[in-house]
Amino acid sequence: MKVIMYHYVRRYTPRLPNFRFLDFDNFRKQLDFFGAKYGFVTLDEWCRYLSDGTMPNVPGKVLLTFDDALSCHFRYVFPELKSRGLWGMFYVPTLPYTERGILDVHRIHLLCGAFEGHRLLDYAVNIISKEMIPERKQQEFETATYAHQLNHEGVSQFKRLMNYFVDYEYRSQILDAIGRRFGYSFEIPDFYMSVEQISEMADASMIIGSHTRSHPVMSRLSAAEQSLEIGSSFDFLSSVCPLPVRTYCHPYGGFHSFNDNTIRLLNGFGVKFSFNVESREVSDRDRIHSIQYLPRFDCNEFQFGSAS
Ligand SMILES: [Zn+2]
Repeated sequence: MKVIMYHYVRRYTPRLPNFRFLDFDNFRKQLDFFGAKYGFVTLDEWCRYLSDGTMPNVPGKVLLTFDDALSCHFRYVFPELKSRGLWGMFYVPTLPYTERGILDVHRIHLLCGAFEGHRLLDYAVNIISKEMIPERKQQEFETATYAHQLNHEGVSQFKRLMNYFVDYEYRSQILDAIGRRFGYSFEIPDFYMSVEQISEMADASMIIGSHTRSHPVMSRLSAAEQSLEIGSSFDFLSSVCPLPVRTYCHPYGGFHSFNDNTIRLLNGFGVKFSFNVESREVSDRDRIHSIQYLPRFDCNEFQFGSAS
Protein backbone atom coordinates (compact mmCIF):
# COMPACT_ATOMS: atom_id res chain seq x y z
CA MET A 1 0.00 0.00 0.00
CA LYS A 2 1.14 3.48 -0.82
CA VAL A 3 0.06 6.24 1.53
CA ILE A 4 0.30 9.68 -0.07
CA MET A 5 0.69 12.96 1.78
CA TYR A 6 -0.75 16.22 0.50
CA HIS A 7 -0.59 19.77 1.81
CA TYR A 8 -1.81 22.73 -0.26
CA VAL A 9 -4.05 21.75 -3.20
CA ARG A 10 -5.22 25.02 -4.71
CA ARG A 11 -5.04 27.58 -7.50
CA TYR A 12 -2.42 30.23 -8.18
CA THR A 13 -2.90 33.59 -6.52
CA PRO A 14 -0.80 36.65 -7.51
CA ARG A 15 -0.72 37.64 -3.84
CA LEU A 16 1.68 34.74 -3.21
CA PRO A 17 3.90 34.54 -6.31
CA ASN A 18 6.44 32.09 -4.84
CA PHE A 19 3.96 29.94 -2.92
CA ARG A 20 4.55 26.17 -3.20
CA PHE A 21 1.32 24.25 -3.81
CA LEU A 22 -0.11 21.43 -5.89
CA ASP A 23 -2.32 22.89 -8.58
CA PHE A 24 -5.86 21.48 -8.38
CA ASP A 25 -5.73 20.35 -12.03
CA ASN A 26 -2.56 18.38 -11.30
CA PHE A 27 -4.19 16.89 -8.21
CA ARG A 28 -7.02 15.61 -10.42
CA LYS A 29 -4.54 14.27 -12.97
CA GLN A 30 -2.65 12.53 -10.19
CA LEU A 31 -5.86 10.90 -8.95
CA ASP A 32 -6.56 9.71 -12.51
CA PHE A 33 -3.03 8.33 -12.67
CA PHE A 34 -3.29 6.55 -9.30
CA GLY A 35 -6.70 5.15 -10.18
CA ALA A 36 -5.52 3.77 -13.52
CA LYS A 37 -2.17 2.44 -12.34
CA TYR A 38 -2.69 1.28 -8.74
CA GLY A 39 -6.31 1.68 -7.57
CA PHE A 40 -7.31 3.03 -4.16
CA VAL A 41 -7.44 1.32 -0.78
CA THR A 42 -11.08 1.10 0.35
CA LEU A 43 -12.10 1.96 3.91
CA ASP A 44 -12.94 -1.74 4.45
CA GLU A 45 -9.51 -2.82 3.24
CA TRP A 46 -7.85 -0.34 5.57
CA CYS A 47 -9.92 -1.53 8.54
CA ARG A 48 -9.02 -5.15 7.78
CA TYR A 49 -5.35 -4.24 7.66
CA LEU A 50 -5.64 -2.55 11.04
CA SER A 51 -7.53 -5.44 12.63
CA ASP A 52 -5.52 -8.45 11.40
CA GLY A 53 -2.81 -7.26 9.01
CA THR A 54 -4.57 -8.45 5.85
CA MET A 55 -3.21 -6.55 2.86
CA PRO A 56 -5.52 -5.54 -0.04
CA ASN A 57 -5.69 -8.17 -2.83
CA VAL A 58 -4.04 -5.82 -5.30
CA PRO A 59 -0.57 -4.76 -4.08
CA GLY A 60 0.50 -1.12 -4.23
CA LYS A 61 -2.94 0.48 -3.89
CA VAL A 62 -3.09 4.12 -2.83
CA LEU A 63 -4.44 5.76 0.32
CA LEU A 64 -4.77 9.55 0.52
CA THR A 65 -3.91 11.80 3.46
CA PHE A 66 -4.10 15.58 3.84
CA ASP A 67 -2.28 17.58 6.49
CA ASP A 68 -2.91 20.84 8.32
CA ALA A 69 -6.71 21.39 7.92
CA LEU A 70 -6.16 23.87 5.09
CA SER A 71 -9.32 25.45 3.70
CA CYS A 72 -8.44 24.18 0.21
CA HIS A 73 -9.04 20.66 1.50
CA PHE A 74 -12.71 21.46 1.93
CA ARG A 75 -12.99 23.68 -1.11
CA TYR A 76 -11.19 21.51 -3.69
CA VAL A 77 -10.22 18.11 -2.28
CA PHE A 78 -13.39 17.07 -0.48
CA PRO A 79 -15.81 17.60 -3.44
CA GLU A 80 -13.32 15.88 -5.76
CA LEU A 81 -13.01 12.84 -3.51
CA LYS A 82 -16.80 12.66 -3.09
CA SER A 83 -17.40 12.84 -6.83
CA ARG A 84 -14.99 9.93 -7.33
CA GLY A 85 -16.37 7.86 -4.45
CA LEU A 86 -13.04 8.11 -2.63
CA TRP A 87 -12.20 8.81 0.99
CA GLY A 88 -9.23 10.36 2.74
CA MET A 89 -7.71 11.12 6.11
CA PHE A 90 -7.39 14.72 7.23
CA TYR A 91 -4.99 15.73 10.00
CA VAL A 92 -5.91 18.82 11.99
CA PRO A 93 -3.73 21.01 14.23
CA THR A 94 -6.22 22.40 16.74
CA LEU A 95 -4.68 25.62 18.09
CA PRO A 96 -6.16 27.78 15.27
CA TYR A 97 -9.63 26.75 16.53
CA THR A 98 -9.05 27.26 20.24
CA GLU A 99 -6.97 30.44 20.06
CA ARG A 100 -7.54 31.76 16.51
CA GLY A 101 -4.78 33.01 14.27
CA ILE A 102 -2.42 31.25 11.90
CA LEU A 103 0.19 28.79 13.14
CA ASP A 104 3.83 29.79 12.86
CA VAL A 105 4.54 26.94 10.44
CA HIS A 106 1.99 28.39 8.03
CA ARG A 107 3.06 32.00 8.58
CA ILE A 108 6.48 30.83 7.41
CA HIS A 109 4.91 29.32 4.26
CA LEU A 110 3.02 32.55 3.60
CA LEU A 111 6.12 34.69 3.96
CA CYS A 112 8.06 32.39 1.64
CA GLY A 113 5.17 32.57 -0.83
CA ALA A 114 5.03 36.35 -0.79
CA PHE A 115 8.74 37.28 -0.72
CA GLU A 116 12.09 36.09 -2.01
CA GLY A 117 13.68 33.53 0.29
CA HIS A 118 17.07 35.23 0.41
CA ARG A 119 15.49 38.54 1.52
CA LEU A 120 13.64 36.80 4.35
CA LEU A 121 16.76 34.92 5.35
CA ASP A 122 18.93 38.05 5.32
CA TYR A 123 16.51 39.97 7.49
CA ALA A 124 15.90 37.05 9.89
CA VAL A 125 19.61 36.43 10.39
CA ASN A 126 19.95 40.13 11.20
CA ILE A 127 17.37 40.20 13.97
CA ILE A 128 18.02 36.74 15.46
CA SER A 129 20.56 36.81 18.22
CA LYS A 130 22.60 33.82 19.31
CA GLU A 131 20.65 33.11 22.49
CA MET A 132 17.54 32.50 20.42
CA ILE A 133 19.04 29.29 19.01
CA PRO A 134 19.93 26.34 21.22
CA GLU A 135 23.33 25.40 19.85
CA ARG A 136 23.20 21.69 20.66
CA LYS A 137 20.38 21.31 18.10
CA GLN A 138 22.23 22.52 15.03
CA GLN A 139 24.26 19.47 13.99
CA GLU A 140 21.42 17.07 14.65
CA PHE A 141 18.95 18.69 12.31
CA GLU A 142 21.31 19.98 9.66
CA THR A 143 21.28 16.91 7.44
CA ALA A 144 17.82 15.48 8.08
CA THR A 145 15.63 18.46 7.40
CA TYR A 146 13.84 19.19 4.17
CA ALA A 147 15.95 16.71 2.24
CA HIS A 148 13.09 16.02 -0.14
CA GLN A 149 11.92 19.53 -0.75
CA LEU A 150 13.06 21.51 -3.70
CA ASN A 151 12.89 25.16 -2.81
CA HIS A 152 13.68 28.52 -4.24
CA GLU A 153 17.01 30.00 -3.23
CA GLY A 154 17.18 30.84 0.47
CA VAL A 155 13.77 29.38 1.29
CA SER A 156 15.05 26.09 2.72
CA GLN A 157 17.57 27.86 4.91
CA PHE A 158 14.91 30.29 6.13
CA LYS A 159 12.48 27.45 6.92
CA ARG A 160 15.18 25.44 8.65
CA LEU A 161 16.20 28.42 10.73
CA MET A 162 12.63 29.14 11.82
CA ASN A 163 11.37 25.57 12.31
CA TYR A 164 14.38 23.81 13.77
CA PHE A 165 16.84 26.28 15.20
CA VAL A 166 15.00 29.24 16.65
CA ASP A 167 13.76 28.60 20.17
CA TYR A 168 9.94 28.40 20.16
CA GLU A 169 9.91 31.00 22.89
CA TYR A 170 11.09 33.62 20.37
CA ARG A 171 9.66 32.39 17.10
CA SER A 172 6.27 34.11 17.04
CA GLN A 173 7.74 37.51 17.82
CA ILE A 174 10.41 37.06 15.15
CA LEU A 175 7.71 36.25 12.58
CA ASP A 176 5.69 39.26 13.74
CA ALA A 177 8.76 41.44 13.22
CA ILE A 178 9.39 40.05 9.74
CA GLY A 179 5.73 40.59 8.83
CA ARG A 180 5.95 44.21 9.96
CA ARG A 181 9.22 44.82 8.14
CA PHE A 182 7.85 43.46 4.86
CA GLY A 183 4.40 44.99 5.32
CA TYR A 184 2.69 41.59 5.29
CA SER A 185 -0.56 40.98 7.16
CA PHE A 186 -1.21 37.46 8.45
CA GLU A 187 -4.93 38.21 8.84
CA ILE A 188 -6.46 35.54 6.60
CA PRO A 189 -9.86 34.55 8.00
CA ASP A 190 -10.39 31.39 5.91
CA PHE A 191 -6.90 29.95 5.93
CA TYR A 192 -8.12 26.80 7.71
CA MET A 193 -11.25 24.71 7.34
CA SER A 194 -14.02 25.75 9.68
CA VAL A 195 -15.31 23.51 12.47
CA GLU A 196 -18.54 23.08 10.48
CA GLN A 197 -16.58 21.96 7.43
CA ILE A 198 -14.55 19.44 9.47
CA SER A 199 -17.77 18.08 10.89
CA GLU A 200 -19.38 17.86 7.43
CA MET A 201 -16.41 15.89 6.14
CA ALA A 202 -16.47 13.52 9.11
CA ASP A 203 -20.18 12.92 8.42
CA ALA A 204 -19.25 12.02 4.84
CA SER A 205 -16.90 9.18 5.91
CA MET A 206 -13.69 11.17 5.81
CA ILE A 207 -11.39 10.27 8.72
CA ILE A 208 -10.33 13.18 10.94
CA GLY A 209 -7.13 12.82 12.94
CA SER A 210 -4.88 14.76 15.27
CA HIS A 211 -1.89 16.71 14.03
CA THR A 212 -1.10 18.04 17.52
CA ARG A 213 -2.28 21.35 18.91
CA SER A 214 0.38 23.80 17.65
CA HIS A 215 2.34 21.75 15.08
CA PRO A 216 5.72 21.71 16.87
CA VAL A 217 8.70 19.50 16.17
CA MET A 218 7.67 17.14 18.96
CA SER A 219 11.18 15.86 19.61
CA ARG A 220 12.06 19.38 20.78
CA LEU A 221 9.46 19.20 23.58
CA SER A 222 9.43 17.58 27.01
CA ALA A 223 7.15 14.58 27.59
CA ALA A 224 4.71 16.79 29.51
CA GLU A 225 4.56 19.32 26.68
CA GLN A 226 4.06 16.56 24.12
CA SER A 227 1.28 15.09 26.22
CA LEU A 228 -0.53 18.42 26.20
CA GLU A 229 -0.09 18.72 22.43
CA ILE A 230 -1.64 15.30 21.76
CA GLY A 231 -4.22 15.19 24.56
CA SER A 232 -5.70 18.64 24.01
CA SER A 233 -5.93 18.11 20.25
CA PHE A 234 -8.00 14.95 20.72
CA ASP A 235 -10.14 16.69 23.36
CA PHE A 236 -10.96 19.40 20.87
CA LEU A 237 -11.51 17.12 17.87
CA SER A 238 -13.81 14.78 19.77
CA SER A 239 -15.89 17.79 20.81
CA VAL A 240 -16.54 18.85 17.20
CA CYS A 241 -16.90 15.61 15.22
CA PRO A 242 -17.13 11.85 15.58
CA LEU A 243 -13.75 10.08 15.76
CA PRO A 244 -14.49 6.42 14.93
CA VAL A 245 -10.78 5.71 15.32
CA ARG A 246 -7.99 7.72 16.92
CA THR A 247 -5.30 8.47 14.39
CA TYR A 248 -2.39 10.90 14.43
CA CYS A 249 0.18 12.32 12.06
CA HIS A 250 3.63 13.59 13.09
CA PRO A 251 4.15 17.32 12.34
CA TYR A 252 6.92 17.77 9.74
CA GLY A 253 7.55 14.03 9.73
CA GLY A 254 10.81 12.13 9.49
CA PHE A 255 12.35 10.13 12.29
CA HIS A 256 14.00 13.21 13.79
CA SER A 257 10.61 14.90 14.32
CA PHE A 258 9.40 12.63 17.17
CA ASN A 259 10.93 10.41 19.84
CA ASP A 260 10.17 7.51 22.21
CA ASN A 261 8.06 9.76 24.43
CA THR A 262 5.83 10.58 21.46
CA ILE A 263 5.23 6.89 20.70
CA ARG A 264 4.58 6.03 24.33
CA LEU A 265 2.06 8.89 24.60
CA LEU A 266 0.29 7.94 21.36
CA ASN A 267 -0.18 4.41 22.68
CA GLY A 268 -1.33 5.84 26.01
CA PHE A 269 -3.93 8.09 24.36
CA GLY A 270 -5.39 5.09 22.52
CA VAL A 271 -4.17 6.14 19.10
CA LYS A 272 -4.63 3.17 16.73
CA PHE A 273 -2.21 4.29 13.99
CA SER A 274 -0.01 7.25 13.05
CA PHE A 275 1.73 8.47 9.93
CA ASN A 276 5.30 9.56 9.44
CA VAL A 277 7.04 10.67 6.24
CA GLU A 278 9.19 7.89 4.82
CA SER A 279 9.58 7.01 1.17
CA ARG A 280 8.33 3.41 1.08
CA GLU A 281 5.12 1.39 0.99
CA VAL A 282 3.21 0.14 4.03
CA SER A 283 3.84 -3.59 4.48
CA ASP A 284 2.09 -6.23 6.59
CA ARG A 285 5.02 -6.04 9.04
CA ASP A 286 4.39 -2.35 9.70
CA ARG A 287 1.17 -3.14 11.56
CA ILE A 288 3.29 -4.79 14.25
CA HIS A 289 6.54 -2.86 14.03
CA SER A 290 5.71 0.68 12.92
CA ILE A 291 2.03 1.28 13.61
CA GLN A 292 2.73 4.70 15.23
CA TYR A 293 4.98 5.83 12.35
CA LEU A 294 3.63 4.27 9.18
CA PRO A 295 5.47 5.38 6.05
CA ARG A 296 4.02 7.97 3.68
CA PHE A 297 5.22 9.28 0.35
CA ASP A 298 5.10 12.96 -0.52
CA CYS A 299 2.78 13.47 -3.50
CA ASN A 300 5.69 15.08 -5.34
CA GLU A 301 7.35 11.67 -5.65
CA PHE A 302 4.73 10.68 -8.25
CA GLN A 303 3.63 11.89 -11.67
CA PHE A 304 1.74 15.21 -11.67
CA GLY A 305 2.62 15.77 -7.98
CA SER A 306 5.24 18.51 -8.34
CA ALA A 307 4.55 21.83 -6.70
CA SER A 308 3.78 24.82 -8.89
ZN1 LIG B 1 1.66 19.51 9.09
